[in-house]
Amino acid sequence: MSDVTVTVVGGGLAGCECALCLADSGVGVRLYEMRPSTMTPAHRGGGLAELVCSNSLKSTRVDSAAGLLKAELDMLGCHLLAYARQCAVPAGGALAVDRDAFSRRVEEELAVRANVEIVREEVRELPEDGPVVIAAGPLCSKPLIDAIMPLVGNRSLSFFDAAAPIVDAASLNRDILFAQSRYDDGKTSDYLNAPMDRQQYDAFVDALVGAERVILRDFERRELFQACQPVEEVARTGHDALRFGALKPVGIVDPRTGRRPWAVVQLRAENRDMSAYNLVGFQTNLTFPEQRRVFGMIPGLEGAEFFRYGVMHRNTFIDAPRALDESFALRSNRRIRFAGQITGTEGYVEAMATGLMAALNTLSDLTRGPLETLPATGALGSLMRYASDPDTLDYQPMHANFGLVPPISPSGLASGRKLGKRERYQAYSDRALEELRQWLQRNPLPFGRGA
Ligand SMILES: Cc1cc2nc3c(=O)[nH]c(=O)nc-3n(C[C@H](O)[C@H](O)[C@H](O)COP(=O)(O)OP(=O)(O)OC[C@H]3O[C@@H](n4cnc5c(N)ncnc54)[C@H](O)[C@@H]3O)c2cc1C
Repeated sequence: MSDVTVTVVGGGLAGCECALCLADSGVGVRLYEMRPSTMTPAHRGGGLAELVCSNSLKSTRVDSAAGLLKAELDMLGCHLLAYARQCAVPAGGALAVDRDAFSRRVEEELAVRANVEIVREEVRELPEDGPVVIAAGPLCSKPLIDAIMPLVGNRSLSFFDAAAPIVDAASLNRDILFAQSRYDDGKTSDYLNAPMDRQQYDAFVDALVGAERVILRDFERRELFQACQPVEEVARTGHDALRFGALKPVGIVDPRTGRRPWAVVQLRAENRDMSAYNLVGFQTNLTFPEQRRVFGMIPGLEGAEFFRYGVMHRNTFIDAPRALDESFALRSNRRIRFAGQITGTEGYVEAMATGLMAALNTLSDLTRGPLETLPATGALGSLMRYASDPDTLDYQPMHANFGLVPPISPSGLASGRKLGKRERYQAYSDRALEELRQWLQRNPLPFGRGA
């Protein structure tokens, strides 16, 4: 394959991982990075694989989705994760890195590979031939967005301001929550309702308005409220604003009282298995501890475990479930593939992961045809399935989490008993790693282990 050159657009986490994997498989790579001559609003310099914000790559515990994702990436031979460990700084149970050392390490590794050409230029149009991986991130430059738009259905590129939290269905108090559609149309409801009386609503709104928010960077402040208002900002406009908005109780009757509650928080199922629920209308800019405290005041959510906290920052991503196939290639043109946060898969390690998969899928297309899809039981397989499943509606950025994997029923376990949270998460991980082991036997890696 020495005559093939793959164009990779974006020298971030996804693009660098993709380039290294391709290079180690004997393929030529032309990696485009527009910084430092054209900067994004968040990056600070010209370094490749720059971490734009926190230096944490999250938990290493294998009984967490973030830890499982890392274990899977180790098995898949991820380069950047190995370099991250080499540049680690103490961070308890998390993997945190010295960001400058990490970026330098990635640059050194790319520099020693003779089949990688790094081009410091903004890509404004897509190459007309040869395989292409677009990994230009959530701050992809405007000319490139304009070039991508027609490929993803013109209306599919979305600007995004905030996401609502997602909670673990198993952690919800079903003695309080009830399933019901508004105006109870008799259909099976995807919604759970958390009823509030007047006192509970008043206390909740007071706490929400007074809660600590994340301090935003200047560029985010300027662009904050164009599209969707965080729930705390709506609450600030008037004490009853939420009761006439996202928390309106119209058409809902609490089966325990036979009456309409004063206010209702609705939770919408995130997946077919109903193992995760989204708090409808709860886009937020509160800090994570405040989300736990304030949203924990919602009746039925006192013990809620968060699969994903609400987040807010400027973000551009494509409507992947409609634009991309399960390998993250364009449904309309497999020559062009996407990786990283531009696909709506959120997070540093997730970006490395989809960069790696873009390389594996591109290589497979060049040699033996489409690669077998990763098992959906894994942190990565389930995320990619979610992001490319046309049944995923109202697509929002998503990081790896156990709400995306098929549940494990007690009857499927040797013990047959209900598992506690940690045991359940460990069982998810054991199942995922075993299935990935089998997948790797059927689909051997075309490159050696990273680093
Ligand atoms: C402000 C902000 C804070 C974030 N904080 C976190 C966090 O703390 N933890 C976390 O896990 N995730 C965070 N994320 C989400 C996500 O993990 C990161 O955005 C991550 O860097 C995504 O990796 P990527 O490779 O997809 O994109 P990036 O790392 O952004 O890489 C994309 C690269 O493409 C380049 N590029 C863009 N357009 C062009 C073009 N036309 N031509 C050539 N090059 C181009 C950019 O300069 C950039 O280097 C954050 C995102 C943002 C926007």
